Amino acid sequence: MIYLDNNSTTPTDPEVVVAMLPYFTDKFANPSSIYDIAFKLKEVLKHSREKIAKILKVNSNEIIFCSGGTEADNIAIMGSVLAQKDKGKHIITSSIEHKAVLEVCKFLKKYFDYTITYLPVNSAGVVDLNVLKDSITPETVIISIMLANNETGVIQPIKEAAEIAHNAGVLFHSDLVQGIGKIPVDISKLGIDYGAISGHKFHGPRGIGIMYLRRGALFKSVIRGGGHENNKRAGTENIPGIIGILKALEISSERISKGALHMAELRDMLQESILEKIPQVLINGKDAPRVPNTLNISVKYVEGESMVFMLDEEGIQVSSGSACTSDSLAPSHVLLAMGLEHADAHGSLRFSLSGETTRVDIEKVLEVLPPIVSKLRKMSPFAPPEFK
Ligand code: PLP
Repeated sequence: MIYLDNNSTTPTDPEVVVAMLPYFTDKFANPSSIYDIAFKLKEVLKHSREKIAKILKVNSNEIIFCSGGTEADNIAIMGSVLAQKDKGKHIITSSIEHKAVLEVCKFLKKYFDYTITYLPVNSAGVVDLNVLKDSITPETVIISIMLANNETGVIQPIKEAAEIAHNAGVLFHSDLVQGIGKIPVDISKLGIDYGAISGHKFHGPRGIGIMYLRRGALFKSVIRGGGHENNKRAGTENIPGIIGILKALEISSERISKGALHMAELRDMLQESILEKIPQVLINGKDAPRVPNTLNISVKYVEGESMVFMLDEEGIQVSSGSACTSDSLAPSHVLLAMGLEHADAHGSLRFSLSGETTRVDIEKVLEVLPPIVSKLRKMSPFAPPEFK
């Protein structure tokens, strides 16, 4: 199996599993209980939160544990707008966000009459900050722009965008899910008010995430119940998950520079060799800074899904578009926003590498992909005669 779909999810690092295991079996209790083991777990929770805060360079009371990236995006945006309902009902986001943000905006529009502005991106996939400046109104309550796009890997100018927001007195949210573990992220320097992190995107477990909530940022909890997470997100704490995300953060922060170099080298090798071996391929996002593990291509006259299935038969796992949209036949909204033709957006393939990806893996892709493309182009009614 050559797994090149690490932007969808990653295998949990064996060291992470080892760290988590005792918290499923021996060291289990509800940290809110009042006997000895529960007190000990409360301490474990406190120390884990402190260690995570140190790695992310934030205060420990700014870390709110939740179930993953989707929940972190949801509770931050909804919690922010709820706390500002008297200010206005205008939200600014980008046209390339993950559904975890886009669907929250759609929901707020449909049921609560919010107005949503979707910022355009240029052909490289970068959000237009001039349009951002011009879009802010006295009614704007939150601006949400992701750090790195899950489909193209393109990195957005978050620091500058947050500055524009703050100069206009507007709070700023960023989906950090695809940045953490791939590029160094210093949350304090980004200057954001809310952020979303997901454990399973950087070799932590699935089912754990973090909402970063800057001290003092307006917020009302939308997950109600017990007083967990300082009344910000109710629900019995997922101690094994918290131990797991801590371990994954420790490992990734230790290996990030070496890992990033390794991934960038292999990604660039894959990119250059595809361009050499397969005619009429577009590299989506190549003119912008990208996270080092992601390569998104459009192969003309070929359906992305067909390539995914045929690569899978060869033991290679990749995505067409993002995993979240690849079960629908709609072309990627991200690629369309970058100005791609529908047909080219349909012909997209995303390779997302990890620190474990080897040169041999990439060589295998380069061996099997060109004949797959030739075969599909021969069958395509749209391909010009030279491909027949
Ligand atoms: N945001 C981005 C940019 C993502 O890529 C993903 C996952 O695909 C999510 C949010 C959702 O994260 P989770 O799967 O942890 O809910």
